[in-house]
Amino acid sequence: MDKLTEEIKNKAMESGSDLVGIVSIDRFNGAPKQMDPIYIFPEAKVIIVFAFRIPRGYFRGIEEGTYFNAYPSMGYGLINLVSAPVVLREVACLLEDKGYEAVPYPNIRSIIGSGKPVSPDKPFPDVLIDFRIAAFCAGLGEIGYSKIFLTPEFGPRQRFALMLTDAPLELDPIYEGVKLCDRCMLCVKDCSGNAISRTETVKVKVGGRELEWGKLDNNRCIIANSGGVKETSPFFTPEFNMEEEIKKSENECYENRKKEY
Ligand code: SF4
Repeated sequence: MDKLTEEIKNKAMESGSDLVGIVSIDRFNGAPKQMDPIYIFPEAKVIIVFAFRIPRGYFRGIEEGTYFNAYPSMGYGLINLVSAPVVLREVACLLEDKGYEAVPYPNIRSIIGSGKPVSPDKPFPDVLIDFRIAAFCAGLGEIGYSKIFLTPEFGPRQRFALMLTDAPLELDPIYEGVKLCDRCMLCVKDCSGNAISRTETVKVKVGGRELEWGKLDNNRCIIANSGGVKETSPFFTPEFNMEEEIKKSENECYENRKKEY
């Protein structure tokens, strides 16, 4: 590993990142305009992908049905709003001190359609880079049938943050280790929102590989993980109707924007 890359990776790990991978911006050539990082920083050469582990115990109280706050507060909010931004700032400052520019991309994003393109050749703000595709290309692991990202170190338990930079950092190869998802379909069977299709899949080509996962019903997923399934949620009220909530939750603005692409 070259000296600059080593220094950047060491800084990230010392500051709180648990895994770091680096992918060439070229890997995103051909991405949909709305998801293409080059529109954020046209001179960028690479994307640094940082992973932050979620300890197993954060989920325990949810499984027991007796304590729900550890995961949303520490496994989601703390990582996205504190742990990852601290690492992004430390690495951005180090890169800047070395004469490069670094654009942090934490997992804090506005919804597509919150604005309009500043010129006809540009996408809407914000450009939405796919964290899982970036993590795959940076060699951190693979996308499971559940569409959840799996790493050899932490299985499905991590969150990501990204950084775009014009620094010429050394790239990591795509993960070639032992297959992490064995298509056991437990995620389909056990999903309390019944949100993952057993038969319909989504396929995308990335880095010369074909990735495939089960088609996800986003509305069902959102409702279920917000506590809307009466069999598994203590927050369910008798008058709550999941099917009605799914219809209501369809975001008109997002749907309208989708029609324009
Ligand atoms: S199919 Fe099995 S291994 Fe793959 S993501 Fe689902 S539960 Fe995990």
